[in-house]
Amino acid sequence: MTAEILSGKDVAAAVSAEVAERVQALGDKGKQVGLATVLVGGDAGSQIYVRNKHRAAQAVGMVSIDRHLSSTVAQADVESLIADLNADATVDGMILQLPLPAGLDGEGAVEGIDPAKDADGLHPFNLGQLVLDRPAPRPATPSGIMRILSHYDVPTVGRTAVIVGRSFLVGRPMALLLGARGVDATVVQAHSRTPELASLCRTADILVAAVGRPRMFTSEFIKPGAVVIDVGINRTDDGLAGDVDYASAAEVASAITPVPGGVGPMTIASLLANTVELAEQRTTQG
Ligand code: NAP
Repeated sequence: MTAEILSGKDVAAAVSAEVAERVQALGDKGKQVGLATVLVGGDAGSQIYVRNKHRAAQAVGMVSIDRHLSSTVAQADVESLIADLNADATVDGMILQLPLPAGLDGEGAVEGIDPAKDADGLHPFNLGQLVLDRPAPRPATPSGIMRILSHYDVPTVGRTAVIVGRSFLVGRPMALLLGARGVDATVVQAHSRTPELASLCRTADILVAAVGRPRMFTSEFIKPGAVVIDVGINRTDDGLAGDVDYASAAEVASAITPVPGGVGPMTIASLLANTVELAEQRTTQG
């Protein structure tokens, strides 16, 4: 079997085109959409992610506001910048690029973001809304994955989804989204203390790998015909690698996301979709 490639790049282009139309519609009413990013420190990977977010925001017609703090700042400096952006009427959505440098508390800083400007959907209030199945900006990476599944008509109802990873950024919200009413997968959440991981993964109709271990998920983790979503982005000596060993997995899976060009572009597209949604809500609320 040669797996179908689930191109996040293609789906992201479609989502971005729709977002651009909504940004234009707001612009026609005199409302510009602003996305602010906060980057702390000089981590090379984080700088690339932030740059890509700005490019994508500008490409859909948003105003992107780039705030960069040095790695030596105090927690209070990060929180005060976030408070300024909360008060700035030109900012509709913001993201704090995580992780923060050692010694700073990223989750604590996210709590300072106004939930109505939380473009990454990671504020505890919005995560609570997700648990309650109420509308709110959803965490960008898992909601990007949901868009891929929907775009490619991957069936979820009654299917077994194994999610490996339980971070608040990816694994936990992914489990909630796949298990939500209307999506109706039966969800198993695995992590580093899960025994017999390969055989557990072989029960999955949908396998989501979000651990940060390059090429860990070989064909022995994959049930024939499964849909494999590779969230991992790992920098290795021979370039970027996912958590899935693509060549071996593609021989047994029915469909698989590549790295790069899979989940990564969808994270950015979902961030843009969240931001335009927040801007629309601010406009209707006056
Ligand atoms: P994280 O916070 O480090 O969490 C990793 C999770 O994987 C933890 O729950 C950990 O278990 C589990 N884990 C680690 N080693 C394992 C093993 N050998 N077997 C089973 N489980 C294991 O990472 P994250 O933020 O969720 O990110 C995961 C990966 O996705 C990283 O490569 C990251 O770069 C990538 N990522 C990509 C995007 C994108 O846009 N494509 C966005 C975000 C993250 P414990 O909880 O037991 O420690």
